[in-house]
Amino acid sequence: MAEEPKETKPGFQNPVAGFGVTFKAMFKKRLTEQYPEQQKTTAPRFHGRHQLNRHPDGLEKCVGCELCAWACPADAIYVEGADNTDEERYSPGERYGRVYQINYARCILCGLCIEACPTRALTMTNEFELADSSRANLIYTKEQLLAGLDEGMVDTPHAIFPGMDEQDYYRGLVTEAAPGTERQVAVSKGELHPLASPSGTAAGEEVQA
Ligand code: SF4
Ligand code: SF4
Repeated sequence: MAEEPKETKPGFQNPVAGFGVTFKAMFKKRLTEQYPEQQKTTAPRFHGRHQLNRHPDGLEKCVGCELCAWACPADAIYVEGADNTDEERYSPGERYGRVYQINYARCILCGLCIEACPTRALTMTNEFELADSSRANLIYTKEQLLAGLDEGMVDTPHAIFPGMDEQDYYRGLVTEAAPGTERQVAVSKGELHPLASPSGTAAGEEVQA
């Protein structure tokens, strides 16, 4: 036997019922957030902007291995590694990340890249204000991602702590820059050696005809 259709309210009652919902909501706890005037504290392990970390003496932890780039499902990371030299050293080992970029127009902040990083060079901060009106500005460079200098650190490039090797850095034996450590000249970035003339020859050096 067919079911009897339920009795519906007369048409004029429907708007009144709608206002009832509004009226009840007036007494509920407000969920509106006054952003950006009032910033909400994120969870401690919130996935925000990335950071490239340093060793306690300022040398960089990134070894330019590209594992983070290969792990990224959004193809958002670009890395170019290069060799360290004694005259221009950025990390304790053989290689360092010469070019490092993250495209935040692609990144979905999933964190797979930081899981893939073998040296804990790459981690994520709690910073979430990444919006920008330009695509170009959303490509963060190594200079933007590299951690600042804490006390006891010297900016790269600089020499490895005397008597220590790469493994010692990971064993935590290096806790600050060695006394007298000075920043080297970043020739690979176009910096001129203080003794060199703008033409590229060392001061006092004769140019061969
Ligand atoms: S957080 Fe995810 S999407 Fe963003 S760069 Fe890392 S792996 Fe790629
Ligand atoms: S951030 Fe880590 S995984 Fe990525 S290139 Fe540097 S060392 Fe390798």
